[in-house]
Amino acid sequence: MSFVKALRCKECGADYGIEPRTVCDSDFGPVEVAFDYEAMKGKVTRASIAAGPQSLWRYRDLLPIEGEPKAGLNSGWTPLVRAKRLAAELGVKELYIKDDSVNYPTFSYKDRVVAVALTKAMEFGFDTVGCASTGNLAHSVAAHAAAAGVRACVMIPHDLEAGKMVGMTVFGPRVVRIRGNYDDVNRLCSQIADKYKWAIVNVNLRPYYTEGAKTHGFEIAEQLGWRLPQHTVVPVAGGTILPKIWKAYQEFITLGLVQDNKPRMYGAQAQGCNPVVKAIQEGQDLFHPQKPNTIAKSIAIGNPADGYYVIKVVNESGGYGASATDPEIIDAIKLLARTEGIFTEPAGGTTLACAIKLIQSGRIPKDESICVSITGNGLKTLEVMQGQFEEVPVIGAKLSDFDAAMNEPTPGNAPWKAAEPAAARA
Ligand SMILES: *Cc1c(COP(=O)(O)O)cnc(C)c1O
Ligand SMILES: [Zn+2]
Repeated sequence: MSFVKALRCKECGADYGIEPRTVCDSDFGPVEVAFDYEAMKGKVTRASIAAGPQSLWRYRDLLPIEGEPKAGLNSGWTPLVRAKRLAAELGVKELYIKDDSVNYPTFSYKDRVVAVALTKAMEFGFDTVGCASTGNLAHSVAAHAAAAGVRACVMIPHDLEAGKMVGMTVFGPRVVRIRGNYDDVNRLCSQIADKYKWAIVNVNLRPYYTEGAKTHGFEIAEQLGWRLPQHTVVPVAGGTILPKIWKAYQEFITLGLVQDNKPRMYGAQAQGCNPVVKAIQEGQDLFHPQKPNTIAKSIAIGNPADGYYVIKVVNESGGYGASATDPEIIDAIKLLARTEGIFTEPAGGTTLACAIKLIQSGRIPKDESICVSITGNGLKTLEVMQGQFEEVPVIGAKLSDFDAAMNEPTPGNAPWKAAEPAAARA
């Protein structure tokens, strides 16, 4: 039993059956899962959700599966952190971090979309799953496929970070490195899906995959005490998660689970790959594809599949966009780590750096509630932080050496205040 009605074209509204499909036959508009919200009323409630598992599957009534979940049984339900120390540094009143850097099992938001897409692929009877990935998606597909006993083949650009390569290969997928950038890989994947009849999660299973991203938004609302933040800052790569957080907020409003406080959505991109933000800032409905050049590789998509809808949602909500340079991204990674104890990858650094710009420019008022989506983990991209801190000197194993060291300025991410020995304080 499910509340799924159809796959519906976002442009002409034509309905299709629940099948592997990406676009509408008549106008090539993307298709999206349509649900029967009327039928949900009275059945999908705060109580029914709260009674569900401590995972993203607590929202299964709002996800496009028919049977039991088959993947990601422990994915989602990541912390929503009240970031008081960071808020104090930025001079804002109410700041939250939605922390998908600790998503299970592969430490990025992608575990949400893969949980749903892999379950759907198994419902459809596919024997092989794959993806076009900038890294995190390949990790997630490979790990979930390993756990489910399904064959996986992941397609990636040739120049991914060394750590990201290990982080996917270890799960035993077939890894295919392709000369070209993400957009080249993605194009090839459409052909592979057709010819090999594989479930490419972000290509021919894309409508199911993208619904999984809603759970990030559902969790923000539920964890905030069934309330929506007034401002939500979200990274934009292919353009999946931002419109889906919005869809999640709107679904909760439709079902009467939260009040409509007219939430605003803000897109964050790296300066070296900011087609969507550029369009938003220039007041254009359409973006111009770019060739990415940034350390934020997991969000370096120059021709985002759903970029058009990001622009639409941001404008409709009354939000805006910002982009961050590589040094600003690094600074934001350090700031988040030093104030909140959260180590994110450059995608998260980008989002926080952009949030700061939006706050400092007055686009986001300092006295309203703000949520920043942190979508990936810094331990996966240690390379980008290498050389950021001076080497720590080695001392002798003697108390006098330690005493001397305590009086030296030490390299690190925060100023060290020389502490008096306890005896001196007494
Ligand atoms: C994929 C990804 C995103 C966002 O991607 P969308 O395609 O826009 O949903 C953000 N952060 C990280 C770390 C990612 O891996
Ligand atoms: Zn159509």
